Amino acid sequence: MKKLSKLSCIVALLFSVTLIAQETNPIIEGIVKEANENSQLERLAHEMLDVIGPRLVGTPQMKQANDWAVSQYGKWGISAKNEKWGEWRGWERGITHIDMVSPRIQSLSGMQLAWNPSTSKKGVSAEAIVLPTVKDSLAFKNWLPSVKGKFVMISMNQPTGRPDYNWEEFATEESFKKMKEDRDALTKAWRENMRNTGYNSRSIIEALESAGAAGIITCNWSKGFGVNKIFSARTKKIPTVDIELEDYGMLYRLAAYGNKPELKIVAESKELGAVPTFNTIAEIKGTEKPEEYVVLSAHFDSWDGGTGATDNGTGTLVMMEAMRLLKKYYPNPKRTIIVGHWGSEEQGLNGSRAFVEDHPEIVKNIQAVFNQDNGTGRVVNLSGQGFLHSYDFLGRWLAAVPNDISKHIETSYPGAPGRGGSDYASFLAAGAPAFSLSSLSWSYWNYTWHTNRDTYDKIVFDDVRSNAILTAILTYMASEDEQSTPKDKIVLPVSKRTGKQMEWPTPRSPERKGMLEEKK
Ligand SMILES: [Zn+2]
Repeated sequence: MKKLSKLSCIVALLFSVTLIAQETNPIIEGIVKEANENSQLERLAHEMLDVIGPRLVGTPQMKQANDWAVSQYGKWGISAKNEKWGEWRGWERGITHIDMVSPRIQSLSGMQLAWNPSTSKKGVSAEAIVLPTVKDSLAFKNWLPSVKGKFVMISMNQPTGRPDYNWEEFATEESFKKMKEDRDALTKAWRENMRNTGYNSRSIIEALESAGAAGIITCNWSKGFGVNKIFSARTKKIPTVDIELEDYGMLYRLAAYGNKPELKIVAESKELGAVPTFNTIAEIKGTEKPEEYVVLSAHFDSWDGGTGATDNGTGTLVMMEAMRLLKKYYPNPKRTIIVGHWGSEEQGLNGSRAFVEDHPEIVKNIQAVFNQDNGTGRVVNLSGQGFLHSYDFLGRWLAAVPNDISKHIETSYPGAPGRGGSDYASFLAAGAPAFSLSSLSWSYWNYTWHTNRDTYDKIVFDDVRSNAILTAILTYMASEDEQSTPKDKIVLPVSKRTGKQMEWPTPRSPERKGMLEEKK
């Protein structure tokens, strides 16, 4: 009893010492106070998401965002530049209007897919039809000429527009089970029929376009209320639009019941030829070890169904705000701090891969990379990514973070190296100690990731603010560390799948001429 209480006294004493150590660090205190009392996150989010909008590679908005970030850093006294790493097919979205004009008039919710050529201002009017059920590819070939002059709906008609969590809450157990069984059967039948045509859901588009279809209509439902994923078009000349589940289902039923729905689609856009693509890089120069680097990392580009608010507007905001906080309270860092706002992550980590390839002198002297790219939530996971001593250094850095932030973070040391998913992987593949600040989901995968609903209103600013503080303090601690980060890697285990010992990921070259050369 006595012994115990003595021990707990010591523990309490140690605890209060660490608390005092934290509380009396004026840099950490300043960072926390500034982030909470003078946050710039809302204004930055508004300028980036509402004024500039989505940041698809090759669009003028992406370049506008690059220029905006450089000028923003300039206002904070941080030197920044746009670094060209390649070229992309330039394209600019215009007006999309999709109207049903028969059997009655209704404007529909949907949008043209990226890099789709423009219709005329008057648009295209035609009947919308569905794919037939066919026995084999010959039957499909015989049917194919009938698509001439028609819009073809090529996505399955979903039996419910309610997400599963909604069914789970309100349906009887039996009817929820039945719905899932029915849906599985429909999905299976849809796939089988697609196979019978002799095509897949991608290659059928080319066949329909060659056969003279007036346009392609998809519905890439993201399994939530009112939410579709929006990617790029596969047609060469005719319009491709994605229509939201509610309207797609209605059109599908009208066509299937023989009501012959007619649509007018205006889908304007501009082809801009080859345009340069950039990473925006900002830097606070180190004073003692300027040739060693702490790298803040978040991709800047997005898909363009929404405004890219959580993929990856929020990661971008975290890094910009962290840089502002650092410049204000830690303007003369020991090591050089740089931030990379990468281009074209969405098409294959291209901007960060290019940076790694173009800057071996930086990559070999990296103290740490902190990347954030999975939504608006507070950081809840941090893995050592396979670095043998990650427990030591990440643990040391994390200990300086206020408990109300660090208590949410589950750490896994030494972890295993990530092989993709976001830009930290580009650095990791080159052997640099790169880490992913992994967020709580906030329904990311269904509701905001690559969807038409990835917009400002989904941002949870308290969580983003917490992430900016976390990033700024980790960066400060990594920069100040007496030790250069040891890069010893764990011995990777034998893969259950292949039976061979797993290997560390290796660097890959970026795509530097995106959508400009015909692929063989
Ligand atoms: Zn992303």
